[in-house]
Amino acid sequence: MHDHRKLGRELALFDTDPLIGAGLPYWLPDGAVVRHALEEYIRTAERKAGYRHVYSPVLGKRELYEISGHWSHYSDDMFPPMDLGAEQVVLRPSLCPHHALIYRSRSHSYRELPLRMAELGGMYRSELSGVLGGLTRVRAIQLNDAHIFCTLDQVADEAGAALEMIRRAYEALGIGAARYRLSLPGPGGKYVAAPEKWERSVALLTEVLDRSGLPYEAAEGEAAFYGPKIDVQVVDGLGRESTLSTVQVDFHQPERFDLRYIGADGAKHRPVMVHRSIIGSVERAVAHLIEEHGGAFPAWLSPTQVVVLPISEAELRHAEALARRCADLGLRAELAGPERGSLGARIREARLVPYQAVIGAREAADDRVALRLRDGRRLDPLPAEDVLDRIGALVGAHRTDLWDPASPTSGRA
Ligand SMILES: [Zn+2]
Repeated sequence: MHDHRKLGRELALFDTDPLIGAGLPYWLPDGAVVRHALEEYIRTAERKAGYRHVYSPVLGKRELYEISGHWSHYSDDMFPPMDLGAEQVVLRPSLCPHHALIYRSRSHSYRELPLRMAELGGMYRSELSGVLGGLTRVRAIQLNDAHIFCTLDQVADEAGAALEMIRRAYEALGIGAARYRLSLPGPGGKYVAAPEKWERSVALLTEVLDRSGLPYEAAEGEAAFYGPKIDVQVVDGLGRESTLSTVQVDFHQPERFDLRYIGADGAKHRPVMVHRSIIGSVERAVAHLIEEHGGAFPAWLSPTQVVVLPISEAELRHAEALARRCADLGLRAELAGPERGSLGARIREARLVPYQAVIGAREAADDRVALRLRDGRRLDPLPAEDVLDRIGALVGAHRTDLWDPASPTSGRA
């Protein structure tokens, strides 16, 4: 496996500057393309699954985190508060309290539940500079977060559906889970007290895991301070394990924020909060993708999807037109003309680009494309329109295979 820090710089995906500070990477254009594609995938998957998106500020008053419990259970990981006149504001350590307040701002009927609220939003962690590096240990985090406000009866189905979204996302991303972990509380005072609620949440998550058929291990001391979790663990280039995705059940914050819904009986009831993240933080997800794929991302994530390679000056205009057609179809195409060296050198330079469209005199004359795939396969020349349609379909479906093997024209190796 690769080291994402080294490769991220080599491929010009992200970098850092000592004047911005440790643990505060910035994204270069190619890295920003990968991130946009990933964020758009997540937002679309969430919309299809009935989530509604919100935006909320990255700051909140200190009192907010006193109510949520972060102040007493999580302050070691929080930045010091900023004094603003008589009040103190804090860079948020999680999105949950804001979402709880958004829920509370309107009255809700049981008919609206499960109410699924999602946000790709910023949060902050005061990591010490000694442990910072690349995209995995950062101080500013963009989290793929969501909170499902639901009845107790709905928790298991919602948590199960979140696990299924995680499975589908990993398939599209071409990554795998190292293991599934049922994260339980351990000894010590960092967890909120309420034994019967912990028991009930653990039972629910155990049921979800058993129903899913996934193998899992229970681990003590890994729960959130407010409740147990299902964590999806991945392993990095150095063999270190970390949590990418998570599904959590929380009885604590609905109580702290006095969340209610009006039941069928006309009375007020307390909803349960399911916290879930499909890809975790965008930073960690992209770090993992870089390491897993060595920069050869699935085509739908690739900064450049199609490189157009005219063999000589004579095909340049035709190649330019083809690159424009790609762009019109929403594909990210780049032209690499003969001024950039021999065809062999240009193909080597584009080795991470999934589709390499070679245009010689014959291809230009009958509007065909001799396609080379990143994995070394070379296809017989095909009508350009056909090629672009097929690439568009594979990219649009978030497929990880570069060509449809069932296709009659997929060619010689
Ligand atoms: Zn949360």
